[in-house]
Amino acid sequence: MVKHDPFANATKQVNDACDILGISDKGIREYLAMPNKMLRVKIPVKMDNGKIRIFTGFRSQHNNDRGPYKGGIRYFNPEGGVEYMEREVMALSSWMTWKCAIVDIPLGGGKGAIYVNPKTEKLSDGEMERLTRGFAYKISEIIGPEKDIPAPDVYTTGREMTQIMDTFSKLNGNKYSPGVITGKPISMGGSLARNVATGLGAAYTIREAAKTLKIKLKGAKVVLQGFGNASTFAGESLEKMGSIVIAVSDSKGSISIPKGAKVSKILEHKQKTGSVVGFPGSKKISTEELLTTKCDILVPGALENQIDAKIAEKLQCKLIAEAANGPTLPEADPIIYKKKIMVIPDILANSGGVCISYLEWVQNNMGYYWTFDEVASKMEANITKGFKDALAVSKKHKVDMRKATMVLAVERVLEAFNQKGIWP
Ligand code: NAD
Repeated sequence: MVKHDPFANATKQVNDACDILGISDKGIREYLAMPNKMLRVKIPVKMDNGKIRIFTGFRSQHNNDRGPYKGGIRYFNPEGGVEYMEREVMALSSWMTWKCAIVDIPLGGGKGAIYVNPKTEKLSDGEMERLTRGFAYKISEIIGPEKDIPAPDVYTTGREMTQIMDTFSKLNGNKYSPGVITGKPISMGGSLARNVATGLGAAYTIREAAKTLKIKLKGAKVVLQGFGNASTFAGESLEKMGSIVIAVSDSKGSISIPKGAKVSKILEHKQKTGSVVGFPGSKKISTEELLTTKCDILVPGALENQIDAKIAEKLQCKLIAEAANGPTLPEADPIIYKKKIMVIPDILANSGGVCISYLEWVQNNMGYYWTFDEVASKMEANITKGFKDALAVSKKHKVDMRKATMVLAVERVLEAFNQKGIWP
């Protein structure tokens, strides 16, 4: 029995958006909430000790009204077990549909997973490859550059993406098919700027929000929770816009640096010592103190469920950009809204990643590759427009940005659905 059901949460968000849009038709609501297809597969793998182990994998295809399904494949073992993972994958595929619609890229929503933790279970490279290729074989009939394009997610990397691409290609008469998957290494048809995409995209949305809120980015004080891919590139991009990072954290603890410090210097320290803690001139603080530091911009860029009602009451920032997925609990949203703090919700703030995945797919399909700046500026155009569109919806319906992004996305998907109608 799991504590909460992520798919029920995703369904509620769709229903809330339908309420705002005045869509009462139960059939339409169900159409928008439910995945089109949920594939559950058994993957037999010959382990190094000669024994056969059966793994369970999923691919949820939520909605393809606006384009092929798109979404990561994760290797993980959530606490709730395999049945929980099925619900989680369904929810994650739904969020991908909305994310792609907000930034107006012609893709739908999908998500995949295998119930395995390659870190704690210490699978060998050979076992990992057999598992990955076994899964690719099982889902090969439903994926493809024009059908469903997976990507990396928790505990999967460019290596797994390459193996999936190669398996798919060999199953299809050796047809060169880089567009079947994104997040590939550059030598395999990956895109420049993918590594910085999520953090850079978050910084672009922050820049747009700052204009609206009249926050001057030059000298603006920034707090980063987490010091990994999403948060460090968000921090570095904001630094380039003139802002100053004054507090950061990682899994070992949080620090405050009242005078501010360059992200590159903190990174150097983390690389040497294994943590941001102990950075010269910093003071160790609690997670709560980090999140409630007086600042202009708070970037939760690590984990889900960080800002609850209690923290929300104490927040002292003007803007929150959710680089991480799900850092704010639903109970905190009304409190934050009342305090007039703007939240750039995760499905918009961290959509730079999917924007550049889309651009990787476009480059693969063209067989022509853009420079870093070309890719980054195309992503900038999509994500800033996404922010402006969501802000307009927020003003029109007098709702917070979280609700506004969902309303915008649901409207866009519904428009495509209505054009096509139902057949057969
Ligand atoms: P990452 O592994 O590179 O970084 C995670 C960071 O969080 C690490 O610095 C880790 O030390 C820190 N952390 C872990 N536990 C912590 C704790 N208790 N307190 C504070 N910090 C802690 O991961 P990432 O790719 O940067 O992903 C971070 C978040 O961003 C996730 O929610 C992820 O889903 C989301 N996201 C990432 C991308 C992407 O392209 N990287 C895209 C969309 C969303």
